[in-house]
Amino acid sequence: MAARALRAAARNAARAVDNYPNSEPPASAVCYLCLGRGDEPLVRNCACRGSDAGFAHATCLIEYAVAGEAEKPELWRECGLCKQEFFGKAKLALARGCWERAKGLPEENFYRLAAADDLAGALQESGDYATALPLFEEVLRVERRTKGDEDQNTLTSIYNLARLHDEMKNHELALPLAVEAVRSYRKVYGDGHQETLDAIDQLANVHKNMMNYNQALPLAIEALAGRRLVLGNSHKNTLASVNRLAHVHASLDNTAEASALFEEDLSSTRRTLGDEHPETLTSIANAGQSRCRQGNFADGLPLLREALEGRRKVLGESHRHTQLAAQALRAFVNAAREVRRAGSRDSPTDEPPEKKRRGR
Ligand SMILES: [Zn+2]
Ligand SMILES: [Zn+2]
Repeated sequence: MAARALRAAARNAARAVDNYPNSEPPASAVCYLCLGRGDEPLVRNCACRGSDAGFAHATCLIEYAVAGEAEKPELWRECGLCKQEFFGKAKLALARGCWERAKGLPEENFYRLAAADDLAGALQESGDYATALPLFEEVLRVERRTKGDEDQNTLTSIYNLARLHDEMKNHELALPLAVEAVRSYRKVYGDGHQETLDAIDQLANVHKNMMNYNQALPLAIEALAGRRLVLGNSHKNTLASVNRLAHVHASLDNTAEASALFEEDLSSTRRTLGDEHPETLTSIANAGQSRCRQGNFADGLPLLREALEGRRKVLGESHRHTQLAAQALRAFVNAAREVRRAGSRDSPTDEPPEKKRRGR
């Protein structure tokens, strides 16, 4: 039963991976299932490695899952070779194939609900929100009717629908669902439970996106404290909470609090993801801006340069994030120049701005 909540978490994790380009099959690659090349493109969206291993036709993956599902239902989600969850095109194709087989079942059937939920999740990851929305809505409607509002699966569906609305920027629709999720998770699981913390973090995010920073703050603090306790300081979700709270503090002009969290986020992502991961590059940019906002240009500008160079290399010159990094660097280089000019007019000594960074 908790498997669906786990899958919701896996969807979050897979998102970062989805941003990477799919592996291009070399001329020597064949489908590992039909052993041919065929007309259909070969996909490999799993953890299979090697220049020509692990490629398959989406149609063959679906046929393989259908043939083996009685004994291995995980073939709808996992690569049969590396046993890791599919992402990207392969995941979407399999979710579609599974839904095609399940959609004729009665609407409260477990397999139909799970298939609708998986397809909606895969569509959301691919950015097809309009097709995902009615599926998530239908699943929630059926679960509320057949299982009640506080059933574990119903709660997961409330959480999923709130997140989709939030991503679609339907914040007014996301808010009541996110509020309901927190209330029910607190009641059913208790305040410190991992899934309650996920719901609290989500509600903090909805408030932040609606610019209700004062409502977001206590929730973001609670989510971070709980995740540190339950998951540890280096877990991906803890880092997401560090980042969220940092932005809320920054929006409320709590510069010292924001800065400490941006610095923590930076050192953790460098350590866990390496210096060139897109998420690390975002952390580098955030910490750089935070230092510059405090007047510490000497330490902030090098980070903004590093973020720009990294994005040029990893994402390319024309990517929106590269452009944003270039804009930020220009703006803060100008700001530093202004401050220097004003300083040389105002005072005879040329002291560097005081560092306000707080150590951990
Ligand atoms: Zn094939
Ligand atoms: Zn694989």
